[in-house]
Amino acid sequence: MAAKPWLSVYPKEVPPTYPYPKTNLADFLIQSAANYPNHTALNFMGKEMKYSELLEGAYRFAHVIRKLGIRRGDRVAIMLPNCPQLVIAYYGTLLSGAVVVMTNPLYMPRELQHQLQDSGATVILTLDLLHKKVKDIVPSTPLRHVIITSVKDYLPFPKNLMYPLKVKKDGMSLEVDYQEGVISFLKLMHDSSSSPVHIDVDAENDLALLQYTGGTTGVSKGVMLTHHNVIVNTIQTSLWAYKSLPGKERYLAALPFFHVFGLTVLMNQAILLGGCLILVPRFDINQILTIIQKLKPTIFPGAPTMYIALLNNSNIQNYDLSSIKMCISGAAPLPHEIQQRFEEMSGGRLIEGYGLTEASPVTHANNVWEKRKSGSIGIPFPDTVAKIVDPATGEELSVGEIGELAIKGPQVMKGYWNAPEDTAKVLRDGWLLTGDMARMDKEGFFFIMDRMKDIIIASGYNVYPREIEEVLFEHPAIEEAAVMGVPDNYRGETVKAFVVLKEGANVAESELEEFCRQRLAAYKVPHQYEFRTSLPKTLAGKVLRRKLIEEEKK
Ligand code: AMP
Repeated sequence: MAAKPWLSVYPKEVPPTYPYPKTNLADFLIQSAANYPNHTALNFMGKEMKYSELLEGAYRFAHVIRKLGIRRGDRVAIMLPNCPQLVIAYYGTLLSGAVVVMTNPLYMPRELQHQLQDSGATVILTLDLLHKKVKDIVPSTPLRHVIITSVKDYLPFPKNLMYPLKVKKDGMSLEVDYQEGVISFLKLMHDSSSSPVHIDVDAENDLALLQYTGGTTGVSKGVMLTHHNVIVNTIQTSLWAYKSLPGKERYLAALPFFHVFGLTVLMNQAILLGGCLILVPRFDINQILTIIQKLKPTIFPGAPTMYIALLNNSNIQNYDLSSIKMCISGAAPLPHEIQQRFEEMSGGRLIEGYGLTEASPVTHANNVWEKRKSGSIGIPFPDTVAKIVDPATGEELSVGEIGELAIKGPQVMKGYWNAPEDTAKVLRDGWLLTGDMARMDKEGFFFIMDRMKDIIIASGYNVYPREIEEVLFEHPAIEEAAVMGVPDNYRGETVKAFVVLKEGANVAESELEEFCRQRLAAYKVPHQYEFRTSLPKTLAGKVLRRKLIEEEKK
């Protein structure tokens, strides 16, 4: 068994082990609605929704999907930016015993199709503005019902009921055609009962989330996270932020909820502690600054890119950030300079944590108020064990040695959906192999050194080279392609493509960029292209991406 040197630096307020309740994850909402019925749960563009109203909305949505035939274990996809409907549908789905499949609204149809087909989701809730993307792929997915909402559908019900929907944007009417299978969210909610629904779940086995990620092998897979996994990770995070005051905090929800970091560290966290979620549908710096000034959030979890963008804004001096007490940064390394400058500017604490979708996601964090180390991801969470292993042999390495980070804990996933072979590659004897190279110091603080896997982290989003290469390979002029991440001051990393053209073919960079733009979410599109006559390869013909990376570094 791995040594646990971090126990000597554990903050005294945090128990190293904790009795997590084995219930439905949506019980967080039921509990907070009982404790704080009149507290504001959501603030969306200045409009507020109380805990009692949020719970009523979740009950209504649970009835809605049960009427549509959804039962325990069935999958329901939600493709929305951060908005009240997302929170309502999320908890409503959980209350009905079904599984939430969060879908990135930036996805292009082919990415969406893969996720829907693989997950087997039969119902999707999305925005009228995004309906076009969904419409064309419905026939090639198991989807039976498309529920459409609008940014204007703000609740509480049924006061501002208005359907069928008509959204005017740039003078264009985006009227949704409510033919068979396409239904208005507001109409469904209005016609639905608000009586309590609570389907019992087997917390340790029933899935709460099927959360898509490229994982360590590149192909987008569904990570099976049980109710227990997510409950544990939400409580672990709240223990770490132990100075959060129940019923009092305001959370700036700028991280997208389609990523598990936003779900656990922000949404579930705020709902567990009866806090107010200030919903930000799109990361716009000026809007964020105005929100901070006006609504005075106390907690602001984010990715490093967000703090960088804030600090680089020329107007930052004109805003008062002093309401912010605590920020947790994750998803990518947090530069020391950014941490220092942000703390000076706000007077609050910005700490770095680490995690991955396969662990719900957080496994490590620096302590919020006491001992921490800059450049370190901190120490393992309560009930979590970590060790460094030799990637070739699996043997545990000693203090200071660099190897693969392995994690064991109750937040670790059940496995990959319908992919036992992929699961067996990363889950060994209960240990999750993270694919990240790290070292541990003698006090038990961990430092991420490099990524074994080839993911690129652009603006905090994971980009999987293989997916981009597959799109490039579809271009008729391309013979070979390999992509990698290159440093970018703003995004952290950006995508660069190396391409070999077919004999006699000719194509401009701009055409390739446009080709990718039509098939991939914007953050995945390569902005740099290098044309080569060949790519370095192994004897077996596999492109040596590592070699390309070394050449690029030179
Ligand atoms: P995801 O599954 O999208 O949450 O991505 C997980 C990956 O993000 C990890 O395996 C790491 O490679 C990377 N990551 C997360 N947090 C950090 C951090 N603090 N420092 C460096 N890399 C990180």
